[in-house]
Amino acid sequence: MERTRVVVVGGGVAGCVMAKGLQDQCDVHLIDPKEYFEIAWAAMRAIVEPSFAERTLINHSEYLSQAHIITSAATNITESEVTTADGRRVGFDYLVIATGHAGGPEFTRSEKLHKYQGEHDKIKAAKSVLVVGGGPSGVELASEIIFAYPDKKVTLVHKGPRLLEFVGEKAGKKALNWLISKKVEVILDQSVDLESGSNGVYHTSGGETIHADCHYLCIGKPLASSWLMETCVRDSLDAHGRLMVDNKFRVKGHNNIFAIGDITDVPELKQGYLAQGHAAVVAKNVKLLMKGQSESKLATYKPASAFALVSLGKKEGVAQMMCLTLSGRIPGMIKSGDLFVGASRKNLGLKSN
Ligand SMILES: Cc1cc2nc3c(=O)[nH]c(=O)nc-3n(C[C@H](O)[C@H](O)[C@H](O)COP(=O)(O)OP(=O)(O)OC[C@H]3O[C@@H](n4cnc5c(N)ncnc54)[C@H](O)[C@@H]3O)c2cc1C
Repeated sequence: MERTRVVVVGGGVAGCVMAKGLQDQCDVHLIDPKEYFEIAWAAMRAIVEPSFAERTLINHSEYLSQAHIITSAATNITESEVTTADGRRVGFDYLVIATGHAGGPEFTRSEKLHKYQGEHDKIKAAKSVLVVGGGPSGVELASEIIFAYPDKKVTLVHKGPRLLEFVGEKAGKKALNWLISKKVEVILDQSVDLESGSNGVYHTSGGETIHADCHYLCIGKPLASSWLMETCVRDSLDAHGRLMVDNKFRVKGHNNIFAIGDITDVPELKQGYLAQGHAAVVAKNVKLLMKGQSESKLATYKPASAFALVSLGKKEGVAQMMCLTLSGRIPGMIKSGDLFVGASRKNLGLKSN
């Protein structure tokens, strides 16, 4: 009997959980330009402590023993097949789009490990570091650097009026106070002209001069949805480039095409643990559809209420749970020690260390 063909595009947390969940029951193809899955929220520590990256970069082949892995970017889709940059055409009965954000140019795990080693060497050699951007990436990177190297001069510049604008004001304030307590200089409401930075001297829009031996731009990656603009789902992209989905994650107007993770327009915080939840719902629905179940039997999803954790070094953190904000050791105990790396590995059936 022919097996149902499922194509998953994107090997981030959403796509890899999806592919793993269906690999033993369907003919699964995972398409990703990288040969590995990266635990995205652990990247800031991997820059400062490259040995940590050994556990956060996982070759897709390590957890997908039965699925087909295609190491190439998807470039087009029709109602029945996906085309890849290396010229392959992969047919599907069900398609799951999980392209969240584009990865970097490193296609192999060893290239990425090498990159982290280079970043680490740069930070280690620097006396002063400039971090541009006060979202979760900028705050976590500045925290990681000052935690590992308390004597370095770290400056964080953010163009907005407060840190962590994706969560409540109190959480941003707590992160700011933590950074200031560690002697990080935080400059708000200003931008930096990185082009003009020469010989370690940078100028801000407010006329301030910053001296830094190296800099990191942490302004958040754009969504990886531009490749969808000429495809059969182009009319289902909203003004922000997100795929509009129904409460079963089906892309608007398409019965056999699903989208999960950060690429969707689900009105909730964009978080990896929620993306895993999306994958679980779609895996369940694909299995039900394979059994010929009716529409009314399919699982539905309710957007989650706000819960986010931002690490502040290895021991502390700040958490936002709906309207409640908590900072210090308790959120630190939940996230900051291991950044959920062991749990994420276990979720893929791998050893936690
Ligand atoms: C600093 C920081 C801290 C965070 N902390 C947490 C946290 O504590 N907990 C939490 O749950 N979440 C956290 N998040 C959020 C979390 O990282 C994201 O929500 C999650 O990574 C989204 O997963 P995804 O699979 O949708 O997309 P991504 O992780 O962005 O993966 C997208 C995948 O698609 C691939 N891709 C892109 N374009 C194509 C293409 N054309 N063809 C094929 N493949 C393609 C990419 O290579 C990549 O593998 C944090 C994020 C940041 C930045």
